[in-house]
Amino acid sequence: MRKLALHWQIMIGMVLGIIFGVIMTSISGGADFVKNWIQPVGSIFVRMLKLIAVPLIVASLVKGISDLKDISKFQNMGIRTIVIYVVTTIFAITIGLGLVNVMQPGNGITQETVTKLKEKYSDNKSVQAKIAEAGKQKETGPLQFIVDMVPDNAIKAMSNNKMMLQVIFFTILLGISLLLIEEKKAKPLKDFFDSLNEVVLKIVDLIMLTAPFAVFALLATVIVSADDPAILLALLRYAGVVVLGLAMMVGFYCVLVSTYVGKSPLWFLKQISPAQLLAFSTSSSAATLPVTMERVEEHLGVDKEVTSFVLPVGATINMDGTSLYQAVAAVFIMQVLWPEGLVFSNQMTIILTALMASIGSAAVPGAGMVMLVIVLDAVGFPPELLPIGLALIFAVDRPLDMCRTVINITGDATVSMIVAKSLGKLGEPNAKNWDDHYNK
Ligand code: ASP
Repeated sequence: MRKLALHWQIMIGMVLGIIFGVIMTSISGGADFVKNWIQPVGSIFVRMLKLIAVPLIVASLVKGISDLKDISKFQNMGIRTIVIYVVTTIFAITIGLGLVNVMQPGNGITQETVTKLKEKYSDNKSVQAKIAEAGKQKETGPLQFIVDMVPDNAIKAMSNNKMMLQVIFFTILLGISLLLIEEKKAKPLKDFFDSLNEVVLKIVDLIMLTAPFAVFALLATVIVSADDPAILLALLRYAGVVVLGLAMMVGFYCVLVSTYVGKSPLWFLKQISPAQLLAFSTSSSAATLPVTMERVEEHLGVDKEVTSFVLPVGATINMDGTSLYQAVAAVFIMQVLWPEGLVFSNQMTIILTALMASIGSAAVPGAGMVMLVIVLDAVGFPPELLPIGLALIFAVDRPLDMCRTVINITGDATVSMIVAKSLGKLGEPNAKNWDDHYNK
């Protein structure tokens, strides 16, 4: 019997998870049952993915760089990647701003809804924590983010998934130095990382065997933790604008893939769909990274020299979905609470700060909302209204986070294809299964 494709298995898991979540919400004690007995399955899966992120980045980046014949190629790739990342992000923010200004979702919100949301969420621990975290980020100087990229302890950097850029910095140094020493002496270390890279990619295959069950657990948990549908409905217009913008980004990526890369967009989406479905289920580009790397390398045929740099850097700094959401959310909050602030110069400030904020957002659930505080702050939004502003969008933040994370990783995959194509590093896909060597 032909095995069902992985993306179908995951999709079935997701649908069953949603149905199960809905049923459990209507049963007394159901939500607690899901939190106690089902949620751990999803948490274990996310932990396993995060577990292999650092070894995968280190092994594949060392291998990628040390396979280069000369270092200038790397510099070339680095500059291209960053420039394309910035351009796609600015494009995303512009789409977001255009839509939110034309569709004016803030006008659909009544005073009664504002009061209800304010009462329910403005003292919410999570909202307050986000404001406090943003406060900490604001206190740092303008060059601090560059200082933060340089680790003072390699082992410490590798022990913390939030320090991905530090790990990348150290690994680039290692890879370049490996290129600069005698070939004979470089060989053992190169072979070691080469082998480690193969092993870690195999671990990704093994973890993915459990993905359909894990997404069942993740989605059932999202459903039982969701807010009252009446509140979600009141924010439907705002959420609709974000989702429409995100859908337009998918169209934009498809155009790039078909015109520049010369590949079928449907084929592209199908090959990366397991990574997209996981991004949706976990709301974390960092947790999805190992799968994104495996899909782009083995299923889209992008050379390791490109994926090993472009994807980990992209997971941390390229967040088209997040930046689009930040632009829409900032203007929506201003439309409801501070319409006098909606002047042209502030919209320009939003473009710049949402770009910086999406670069600074961590690739974990809910990070985009923390940086939204910084965007609002930059346009001079009254600080006393901040908790109310966040309260306005809080109820729909998780579902929107799920959607924007899909766009974040799709953007990374698209840019990998573009960079690979421009450098002649786009080859044929070579998909591997977990048991390719098992019988031997
Ligand atoms: N969850 C997003 C990501 O991991 C970041 C965000 O927008 O909150 O890509």
